[in-house]
Amino acid sequence: MTEPDTKDICLVYASAATQEFEPKELLKILAKAGRHNLRNGITGMLLYAEGSFFQVLEGNGQKVHQLYERILLDPRHAQAIKLIEEPIERRAFSQWSMGLARFTRTELSKIPGLNDFFGQGSSFTGLGEGRAKTLLAAFREGRWRRRLH
Ligand code: FAD
Repeated sequence: MTEPDTKDICLVYASAATQEFEPKELLKILAKAGRHNLRNGITGMLLYAEGSFFQVLEGNGQKVHQLYERILLDPRHAQAIKLIEEPIERRAFSQWSMGLARFTRTELSKIPGLNDFFGQGSSFTGLGEGRAKTLLAAFREGRWRRRLH
């Protein structure tokens, strides 16, 4: 029997920005996202690095899918690729309606396991599931997490 779509899931995707994102533009996304996500019980984080996004959406499966569909239509980014979708017992970013951080590739290349990847100039869209999980793990705790605001 199929499980009803009521459990929390975690959906992670990466995409390419179609415009330059200064901190001011990122905060505009966040202002809207914060209100909407709070209303819908969605939490997560959004990373931006030199023209690409990495976003984690946590929440009720149906709500997360609806939001993801809406985000995909946003012309401010393109080439979205879903990296992870899985049920979760506990949320990793429950205190953020959407945590945000901006990085350079050089900074990201300091994450253990991702040194070569970001060091070679790769962007979030090329991560694949395995490296996406490594990145996610780095933000679950410790010094990387402290960059989220
Ligand atoms: P409106 O703001 O009226 O948007 C109408 C349409 O215009 C939408 O298609 C929208 O995508 C587009 N649009 C809005 N502002 C601009 C702009 N400045 N330039 C060009 N097009 C624009 N929203 C959330 O609620 N939660 C999230 O976690 C979230 N994360 C996002 C992550 C990324 C990387 C991006 C690019 C957007 C994100 N958004 C998020 C915003 C989301 O895509 C919608 O813009 C937002 O939910 C509001 O949509 P709306 O249809 O209610 O309203």
